[in-house]
Amino acid sequence: MITRFAPSPTGYLHLGHAYAALVADDLARVNGGSFLLRFEDIDTGRCRPEFVDGIEEDLRWLGLDWPQPVMHQSDRFSAYADALDVLDARSLVYPCFCTRKDIQAEIAQASSAPHSPPAGPDGPIYPGLCRNLSDPEREQRIASGETYALRLKMDDAIRQVGELTWTSHDGQTTTAAPHIFGDLVVARKDVPTSYHLAVVVDDAEQGVTLVSRGEDLRPATHAHRLLQALLDYPPPRYFHHKLITDPDGKKFSKRDQAATLRHLRDSGHTAHDVIRMTGFTPAT
Ligand code: GLU
Repeated sequence: MITRFAPSPTGYLHLGHAYAALVADDLARVNGGSFLLRFEDIDTGRCRPEFVDGIEEDLRWLGLDWPQPVMHQSDRFSAYADALDVLDARSLVYPCFCTRKDIQAEIAQASSAPHSPPAGPDGPIYPGLCRNLSDPEREQRIASGETYALRLKMDDAIRQVGELTWTSHDGQTTTAAPHIFGDLVVARKDVPTSYHLAVVVDDAEQGVTLVSRGEDLRPATHAHRLLQALLDYPPPRYFHHKLITDPDGKKFSKRDQAATLRHLRDSGHTAHDVIRMTGFTPAT
């Protein structure tokens, strides 16, 4: 079994990250596998090298270890481009020039009905403005330097692969419902991939067989299962762990300096104390 911990180096690790890393490591250990580390740093403007180093240092301090080399998504843009080519060859992607404002205005105009417009896990369902642009218009807008994202034609994509299921760690299957995302962004305007595409490509490249991550990412699994099928990757199993909260019941956030492993260590806590604070108990 291969599991992974995939932090974004936009800040230091907090107790919630520590719990996620411990769970992924434990699952690999108990099942005689390996635990990998991957930095999800496609957001090059927000990620910082000092956080990469700090995260590795904090994880080692916690007692974790992982094989080298560590994958950095910022080194992987050509792999994402190859995956986009596969989707394009299946006639499943189109450029979308819309700004957030264009999307909101279109939704507001179209939904004079009293009920609120459908929202997906990543925000409002894209109302399809750019889906039916003519080829000459697309070419002209691209040539004039307009920036664009790439979106997946969700209905056609689902039609191509048929009904899919994903399997959780305990063997339960769930029917994938990727349509909840609408026309998913597979490459952002500012970055030539998206979280969803990069995770799927990299989990396949790293041979991850059990994706262990927080319950908050459960909806993403529906989209990931679809992308795996379109890209012809073997599907991993999934373990969505509970999210640990602070004493007020709130999720830890990167702004929560007091909950960072760094701060806890500097204020005299041991790794053992921190593990206890996460509530993590090893499976064996
Ligand atoms: N990079 C994501 C995070 O920091 C985790 C992604 C995943 O596990 O799929 O929450």
